[in-house]
Amino acid sequence: SNQNFIRNFSIIAHIDHGKSTLADALMRVCGALEQRHEKEQFLDTMDIERERGITIKAQTVRLSFRAKDGNLYQLNLMDTPGHVDFSYEVSRSLAACEGSLLVVDASQGVEAQTLANVYKAIEHNHTLIPVLNKMDLPSADPENIKTQIQNLIGLSGDDALEVSAKKGTGIEAVLQSIVDRLPSPQGDATACLKALLVDSWYDAYLGVILLVRVVDGIITQKMKIFMMAANAVYTVEQIGIFTPYPTPVNHLACGEVGYIIANVKTVRDCHIGDTLTEEQRPATEALPGFKPCTPVVFCSLFPTEAGDFDRLRESLAKLHLNDASFSYEMDTSNALGFGFRLGLLGLLHLEVVQERLEREFDLDLIITAPSVVYKIQLQNGTWIDLHNPADMPTPNEIHSMLEPWIKATLLVPDLYVGAVLTLLVERRGIQDSLEYITPTRALMVYRMPLNEVAFDFYDTLKSLTRGHASFDYDMDGYEEGELVLLSILLNGEPIHALASVVPQMRAYEKGRAICEKLKGILPRQLFPIAIQAAVGGKILARETVSALRKNVTAKCYGGDITRKRKLLEKQKEGKKRMRKFGNIEIPQKAFIEVLKLG
Ligand code: GDP
Ligand code: MG
Repeated sequence: SNQNFIRNFSIIAHIDHGKSTLADALMRVCGALEQRHEKEQFLDTMDIERERGITIKAQTVRLSFRAKDGNLYQLNLMDTPGHVDFSYEVSRSLAACEGSLLVVDASQGVEAQTLANVYKAIEHNHTLIPVLNKMDLPSADPENIKTQIQNLIGLSGDDALEVSAKKGTGIEAVLQSIVDRLPSPQGDATACLKALLVDSWYDAYLGVILLVRVVDGIITQKMKIFMMAANAVYTVEQIGIFTPYPTPVNHLACGEVGYIIANVKTVRDCHIGDTLTEEQRPATEALPGFKPCTPVVFCSLFPTEAGDFDRLRESLAKLHLNDASFSYEMDTSNALGFGFRLGLLGLLHLEVVQERLEREFDLDLIITAPSVVYKIQLQNGTWIDLHNPADMPTPNEIHSMLEPWIKATLLVPDLYVGAVLTLLVERRGIQDSLEYITPTRALMVYRMPLNEVAFDFYDTLKSLTRGHASFDYDMDGYEEGELVLLSILLNGEPIHALASVVPQMRAYEKGRAICEKLKGILPRQLFPIAIQAAVGGKILARETVSALRKNVTAKCYGGDITRKRKLLEKQKEGKKRMRKFGNIEIPQKAFIEVLKLG
């Protein structure tokens, strides 16, 4: 097919503004969905995504649209994950397109993720088509939203389309605008092959599937493909497109998007963002922008039942088949036994992985506090990356320590601005800007340490603002910090899983808070328990859980063990899950509660 009749686009939006519903509506108008499939939104494939309304794996659909000029156009819709944790995948999807539909809920207006995604789309030179969705709602306020789009994004509000994805109104106009306003792909069909590896995933029937965008040249059957970053050669076994159902085709021409299957063994062998070229006639230069995605948040996972360790290992391996963006390795803890240390792209990524393990693999897990990656310069001059607070060198070995910072964007109704400002200051935030984008809504841009958002920042923000604030962030370099390792000891023994890196000025306050919290949570034993918080051998705080008298024990802790086990199984919440440490029992709740103090 001719390149002039191709348009590649993605849809960007804040969560819940209607990206998936619009994608469905576009498919329906183009006849891509058969009646029987219409019940389900096609693009969100995983349960968690559907429940939370987030899209994790990028998907793609080829649509056929007859435009007003009478020609049949091939429109390739690349779905993008909406959340910044998956910004690497967002970037890859955007790099495969020439333009984006910018969906804004006409009753809510521009939100933090709208802006974060717009910045990314602009980086990729995208032409943006603003689409005001949910026009069927009585609270839709298109004039106000157009002003926001104009002021915040610099796009003319007059160009905005008004639709109801749910009711299916205004959808033809969106398709026609894609044809009219977005450029066609500009590659050279006769040049040597250059294709961008947009995504890869494991399919139980087909094996590893590679989603590619052909930038120059053509991909044909049996072609020997050279993956430039992976430095590996594969033979193309099958070529296809998603309509949205996988449909084999003969080739992928210049400018087209589709999948190939090439006997790749695991997704680990594919580097998303890699350039595919032809072994016989290789491109000399790879496409720009390839960089490996590196985990920024680490935490450890332990099975609640020690006997589940092998299952946890198998489950992680299976999950890794579809998500090569997290890393994992064995970890051991004196309190929690054998587990794994996970590296993740961000906090939502952590939640997604945890939920998938618990749900899809039916595992009960104990998760330690997420820790960011610190860069430490030792006295001897060498630099190390610290992934686990338990591995922190002693203070006299450390020359200096850097921590990662973020640039946070928040949109907050004026009612809550005071409370959010207080929260940001508590979290070591530094103001870049604060402006009212409407008389009742403030846009705040703050720089702050990632460490400060790593545990309960989202939850605190949500409860402070009754869910009316939106938040997004981007990594923003490393800065020197006065940081220390805060250890927690029970009867003199450090509990590695409770160790954390904290700003020096807050060590005392945090140490006290953790000790007090633990005191309230640890069940009493037959002997007293000393709880201590320490930095570098210096005890900052101490609490004692006094011993139980014998007869009371019989009531609380007696009874036969099998009954107790059954109880354990029933308590899915994990409140009663215990881990023996020496002879001190630590309920999982104690961990979660302590970890919340971050
Ligand atoms: P996404 O998170 O951007 O993918 O948003 P979804 O497509 O999942 O939509 C979020 C919610 O908004 C869902 O409950 C949709 O039914 C609803 N929604 C989407 N489009 C419209 C619309 O045009 N009108 C109304 N009233 N609701 C809509
Ligand atoms: Mg969605």
